[in-house]
Order: sequence, then structure tokens, then C-alpha cells
Amino acid sequence: LRARHVSFRDIPPTPDLKRSYDVVIIGGGGHGLAAAYYLSNLHGIRNVAVLEKGYLAGGNTARNTTTIRSNYMTEESVRFYKEGVELFETMSRDLGFNVMFSQRGQLTLAHSEATLRSFHLRAEMGKHMGTRIEVVDVRTVKELCPHLNLDLGGQHEVMGGLWHADGGTARHDAVAWGYARHAGARGVEIHQRTEVTGIEHAGDRVTHIRTNRGTIAAGQVLQAVGGLNGQVAAMAGIRLPIRCFPLQAMVTQPLKPFLDILVSSANLHTYLVQSSRGEVVIGGGSDPYQLASTRSTLDQKEHLAEGALHLFPFLHKVKLLRQWAGITDMTPDYSPIMGASPLRNYWLDCGWGTWGFKATPVAGKRMAETIATGRVPDILKPFDLSRFDSFALLNEMGATAASH
Ligand code: FAD
Repeated sequence: LRARHVSFRDIPPTPDLKRSYDVVIIGGGGHGLAAAYYLSNLHGIRNVAVLEKGYLAGGNTARNTTTIRSNYMTEESVRFYKEGVELFETMSRDLGFNVMFSQRGQLTLAHSEATLRSFHLRAEMGKHMGTRIEVVDVRTVKELCPHLNLDLGGQHEVMGGLWHADGGTARHDAVAWGYARHAGARGVEIHQRTEVTGIEHAGDRVTHIRTNRGTIAAGQVLQAVGGLNGQVAAMAGIRLPIRCFPLQAMVTQPLKPFLDILVSSANLHTYLVQSSRGEVVIGGGSDPYQLASTRSTLDQKEHLAEGALHLFPFLHKVKLLRQWAGITDMTPDYSPIMGASPLRNYWLDCGWGTWGFKATPVAGKRMAETIATGRVPDILKPFDLSRFDSFALLNEMGATAASH
């Protein structure tokens, strides 16, 4: 209860580095901060340092379009992301801070019979796992989204959709700040402008972390560095099956509310959501080439505008306010890598690509459990790095596409 009276505007200042910590978290994005929160609040582990090379949650956590959903294809993914959605449902109350969770539902459009068939598979899996999901016909699409253009015709004709009532959005900064403030109040140190530059190990254990502010000893280490996961893992001598692609998004000037659900179309590679400020957030798929850059391009702006105008032609005179990009760490099967690494005290929370915001609370909670107990919980086991050796992949490409 005391934590509820903490001021959330006041993120703890960066202190001097101590010589050693029980747990060092590399990366002060949503995932690292959520893990710090759960380590300190659920497991009583407070001698923790979060090392962030830039400013708090300024990586992909700051750049994402905040789609939250659990309508994946595999049983393992649905179980995991469902727990994430449930944690969002109580997050504002748990943190005593309004993270603006808006569970307005997500509609994915089907433009072909083949897509509709794959939606049936996802709907059956989701129902089996206890999520709210169903295939809907064009009449229901119209009811859910009255302003959607249903006269697309040709290859873009709308034939139905996948309606996921559990889907929603939340305010990304608030999620990160809420976790940071509570972790800080429990004694976790948050070190901004602190870049990890090297990882020292002896045998199969990490001993020290080198930073631009000095070297520290670490009992356990969690790596959660978003688009830089490949590079930081390489410092520890670990090779990850991750490649980086830019992912862009953009936002229009504020409009009167007209869209109260999330809409996405895999055919058009476009999704839209109207924020509580009235701005229309528009996103799509990753850039088609590998690059570690956060520049945005005219190509992608035109592509996203085209998709948005197909779906909502009346947006044609609306001005864009901003366009931006993040670097996404993509795995071959479009699922994350969580759990053990080849080093005994070095834990991985990476491969979050274009889909990791929604997993912020559940990844943080379950990775904290892993570190605190030294055991990977069952819910995380399918996401182990070893799946790429044993070919036990969790293919979620079809459920990721332009939906995030
Ligand atoms: P980040 O937020 O990137 O945090 C990692 C931190 O590590 C960064 O702050 C970085 O500065 C720091 N770091 C890196 N290297 C070092 C180092 N050497 N030393 C110290 N610190 C370091 N996901 C969804 O679920 N829904 C969406 O709608 C969605 N839309 C997206 C739209 C866009 C345009 C983008 C780019 C991504 C989107 N994502 C979405 C993906 C989501 O943003 C990420 O998967 C998620 O934010 C990852 O969180 P994180 O904490 O792991 O990484």
C-alpha cells in the first residue's frame, strides 16, 4: 500500500556504481525494468542494478505502437501472452499508476478464404486456451468498425475477420515508469547513461560487467537490450539467431474519435489504432533489409499511408505529425528467446522483434522468477535458446505479420 503514495514523476536519480550487485540487468527498457520490479517486489532481491546506456525506456519501449493481444497460433505462445494480457488488466491497480490500459479489442481482416481458414485455427486454439477470440463475418466487421471501407474489391476484398476482444493498448512510458518507480522505491538502482562495454567470465560464469562508468561484479546477469541483443550477447561470447531490421510507424494529427478498436490487415501490411488523444497511429511490417538504424523512410511512409487510405479513404487530407523507427531483434520463428544461456548465471530475455511490448509484464515476472529460483518455469521452457538446435521452433510468423 505504501508504494501507492510514491510520486511517479520522480524516477530515482542515477547513483554512483557500487562494486558489486546480486543481480545486474543490462537494459533499462520495459523488460529490464519489469524484471527489476518483480525481483524487488515479489522475491525480495533488492541489491539490483539496472544499466541503461541511454535514458530510461528510450529504446523500443518508447517507439512501439502498444498493441497488446494473445491471439497467437501455438498453444505455448497463447498461454504465455494470455498471462501478459491478464497482468495488463490489473497493472494500473498493482502499480497505483494509470497505465491507460484500454481493452478495446483487435480486429484482423481476412481478404481471402485461405486467411479465413487460418483464422479458424487461431480462434479454436485461443478458445481452447480460454481467450476471447472468434471468426466474424463481414456484417460483424461492419458493426465493429462502421467507418471501415468495405468496397475494396479485387484482391483486398474483406471476407471476414478475427475478432479478439481481449486485445488492447496501454501507455508505454507509463508502464516503464511505473515499474521503475516501484523498483527504485525498493532499493533497485537505475543507472542511466551507463553503457555495458564488456562482459568478463571465468569458466561458465560471468564475473564482471564492464561499463563506461567502471567495472562491477555480478552474481546474476539478465540481458534485455532490445535491438542490440545480438551485439551484447556477443560480448558474453554467445551467438544468437537474431537479425536486426528497422520497424517504422507514424502518427497523424488528432481527429475526433472514429475508431474505437484496433484494426489490422496482413494483406495491406498496415494496422491502425486511434490514441486517446485522437491521433491515428499507423504501423506495418519491418523494413525488408537488415540494418541497425532508427532512421525512417519516405518509402515506408507512402506504403503505410496507402494501406491506411484503402481502409479509411476519408483520411486522405489528414496531416502526419511524426514518423519514427526502432531496431527490432528478429528470430527465425518470430518467437522470443527467454531463459538460460550457455553461461550459468547469464539469463536471456531477447528476440522480441516487433511483438515484445505486450510481453513486458509477463516476461519481467517470469524472468525474475527464473533468476530468483535458478529454475526456468514451465511457461518459459518452450522459448529456450536450445530450440534452434533441436528444431523445436515456435513458428508465429503467421500471427505476427502486421499485427504486432
Ligand atoms: P527496449 O525497450 O529496446 O530496451 C532495451 C534497452 O537496452 C534500451 O533502452 C537500450 O538503450 C538499452 N541498451 C542497449 N544496449 C545496451 C548496453 N550495451 N548497455 C546498456 N544498455 C543498453 N510490440 C508489441 O507488443 N506491440 C506493438 O504494437 C509493437 N509495435 C512496435 C512498433 C515499432 C515501431 C517498434 C520499433 C517496435 C514495436 N513493438 C511492439 C516491439 C516492442 O517495442 C519491443 O519488442 C519491446 O519494447 C522490447 O522491450 P525491451 O525492454 O526488451 O527493449
